Amino acid sequence: MFKEKNGLHFANLCIDPHKSPKEKKVLFSHAHSDHIKLSKHSTFFATPETIDLVKERNTRQYTPEFREIPMEQKTKFDGFDLTLKPNGHVLGSCAAVLAQSDKDFVVTSDFRLQDSLLFKGAKPIPADTLVLETTFGSPEYVFPSQEEVANAMIDWVGKNARDKLVLLSGYALGKAQELVKIANEAGYTPLVHESIYKMNEIYKKHGIDIGNYELLDHNLKDFSVLIMPPQLVDRFLLATLREFDKRRIVSALATGWSYRKQFDITFPLSNHADYNDLISYVEQVNPKLVLTDHGFCEEFARKLSRLGFNARPLKQHKQRVLGEY
Ligand SMILES: [Zn+2]
Ligand SMILES: [Zn+2]
Repeated sequence: MFKEKNGLHFANLCIDPHKSPKEKKVLFSHAHSDHIKLSKHSTFFATPETIDLVKERNTRQYTPEFREIPMEQKTKFDGFDLTLKPNGHVLGSCAAVLAQSDKDFVVTSDFRLQDSLLFKGAKPIPADTLVLETTFGSPEYVFPSQEEVANAMIDWVGKNARDKLVLLSGYALGKAQELVKIANEAGYTPLVHESIYKMNEIYKKHGIDIGNYELLDHNLKDFSVLIMPPQLVDRFLLATLREFDKRRIVSALATGWSYRKQFDITFPLSNHADYNDLISYVEQVNPKLVLTDHGFCEEFARKLSRLGFNARPLKQHKQRVLGEY
């Protein structure tokens, strides 16, 4: 019943399509843009939090049909039951538990195993078949504990914001809200770019305490910390900031990936399980079959096989019924 074709397919449900779907029923695991392709013809199922975020990010001229599925609530589909479980990645993000006859299929989607400043980490879910997100499924992606990374960032902000302008950067959905929390923990209310401000407001609406923040609006001089999405941080932005503000600027990027661009420092703050977390997750679930998806899916499936698990990359199986495995 599982197919990899414009996202995952389970029976008549399409999960996280990567282009505009034709299917009637579509599930979004979370609101990152590579997981949410909209169309007029589908009904989109997701948690209430994800639906709010998707509506805010929707640039299309129409409002698609959404159906809320709250976390932990069992919902009947044709031939199976669906339950969504929190997975620690971003606001509203979930793993999907698909129960069919006596078998449980679990799709982790993008997930984080460790607790963050805002969310509890994913709890292992019993599964016969586990579809595992392997974004960082290679040994070079082992990060320090996320608590250590957050504390190092809080110290760094606290030290620098006294006499400099601190520029923090991370994706507008997920990372940026953690940066707001970090700035607050360091004792500073940050200014945020509009795209981040909109996401912050939805976090707040759903009761997540990210601390205080203000919208960037010709008010740079009154603040010491500015938070921007990475794609807007370039030499033009830095030159503009320098023109308006005589303070020295120091910049930090929060990412699991190791690139620097124009940043003074990179902190490996990550919304994804790292290599060791992935192995520990599979060991805790101990499924009969692991299908790896995203990133280092082949390399990681080989690693799992060496550890004695039945594992293979999902994409190798062009169009297979999950029950066949
Ligand atoms: Zn994501
Ligand atoms: Zn993703």
